[in-house]
Amino acid sequence: MITAVSEPLRRLALVPEPHPGESLLSWVDALARTNRVSRMRALRLAGFVRPGAPDNRPPVHFGSRVADETAERVYAATGLPPQRLHQMTLMHYARGILPEPPPPPLTPQSVSSWLARHRIALPTRSRDCPPCLRETGGRWLLKWRLIWSFACTRHRVYLISTCRGCGESLHRTVPGPGDGVVCRQTSHDRCRLGPCSRVIHRMRPPRVADEHLLACQRRLDALIENPHRPGGHDVLRSLHQALEDIRIHYDDAPPLPHTDPAVRRRRHNHRGAQWYRDVPLLTATVIKIAATGGITPDTARQTDTASWSAAGPRQPDAAMSIPLAVNRFGGRCHEGACPTWVLPGQGNLVQSLAGSRLLCPTHAARVSTRARPRPLTATGWYNSPATGFLRARLTDELEATDPADEARDPHLEGRRLILDACEHTNPTSKVGRALHYAVRTLLLPYTPHPDFDPRWLLRQGEHPTEALGQPSLHLHPDAVLTNPYGAARPGSHPS
Ligand SMILES: [Zn+2]
Ligand SMILES: [Zn+2]
Ligand SMILES: [Zn+2]
Repeated sequence: MITAVSEPLRRLALVPEPHPGESLLSWVDALARTNRVSRMRALRLAGFVRPGAPDNRPPVHFGSRVADETAERVYAATGLPPQRLHQMTLMHYARGILPEPPPPPLTPQSVSSWLARHRIALPTRSRDCPPCLRETGGRWLLKWRLIWSFACTRHRVYLISTCRGCGESLHRTVPGPGDGVVCRQTSHDRCRLGPCSRVIHRMRPPRVADEHLLACQRRLDALIENPHRPGGHDVLRSLHQALEDIRIHYDDAPPLPHTDPAVRRRRHNHRGAQWYRDVPLLTATVIKIAATGGITPDTARQTDTASWSAAGPRQPDAAMSIPLAVNRFGGRCHEGACPTWVLPGQGNLVQSLAGSRLLCPTHAARVSTRARPRPLTATGWYNSPATGFLRARLTDELEATDPADEARDPHLEGRRLILDACEHTNPTSKVGRALHYAVRTLLLPYTPHPDFDPRWLLRQGEHPTEALGQPSLHLHPDAVLTNPYGAARPGSHPS
């Protein structure tokens, strides 16, 4: 039953059931084996190729995402619902294991550059566990296309990523002739020898004896299997940042803790972590260093367990006035040229526009010291009846409560900080007018007070940086300037 190119799609008679967690390319290969056709022919029969489109190779990033229109065609040809199809693509991990996808409309190009930018997925090749492939008859798992899979916990082996025969990477989307069982790739070196005939499930992977690395893989598997569970993204994001830090600043990172000889040898041969995305054994080295490198054996277990938990390790310095997230997996301090390597469970993460930055305890202490309001007697260079009234009310409230009282209204301190900012900002500047506007909003609870002047309240339609009905009037009519430079900017006027 073979349809011609121009014919409409027909329902295929032989459609294999997708294996749990299978990748899309693997399912297409299974379809090809069942129907005894080539991979390209299977793509066409299953509706992945638009009818009438030229017969060429599958796209480079096949399996990253399936467009709705394609999913409908595949549904018509195979009966596989679009939702099941989506679960076999890397897009299934978006907003979880993988970050927020690019903005719509999604195109193959935007999805592939998104995947390339985040460097977590392997869209064009796969790792694999040969014993798993033997058991399933050549079904490749989607999670093997993530750097987070470096071992198989069931068979206790490290995954492999290259063919033992020809050295090419495995289960590639291009070039075409490969399938899920035999390598069949023709590398440049083997042109004369013809396609590689190695059977992938007969390749021998290195065994895992390091129980800690197996535990790390179990934790990663649990996160991959629930890609959208809250907290998981956080753990993986900090782990990824740690791995990248080890890759970039390899000489500053702690040495590899004791582990399997295969892992140690691989790291020694590579003298670094440059290719950890390509080689599962190198991924194991950087995960081992990130999770326990440099910490003493007596605290290693405790830190390691806490790092992978949803809450993360405990705050090492509870005296900090601004609580910060604790670093889970170590890395280099991101402050300027600070050379400190921060161990797991120490140092802090600070949010910035570019994402979270890891800081050593010294630099974390600098950003975590909170601003304190000025003494109540202090006046700035600007005050008005409104600011004077508010300062008097805040003084009353402070005197009425005990400073040591933990339950004291924290808004009190916030209101004092706004008032301080207003009194120390040039009132003729836009910012100064906006701050005065903010101070007047803080007067709302005091309207019944005998000294309260209703003109201080904000009017309907009033703009934060312009006086009502008088956009050219920069200074509030009640303003009293105590600054010797008057309304001019400090320094712009000779005294
Ligand atoms: Zn396995
Ligand atoms: Zn090969
Ligand atoms: Zn530092």
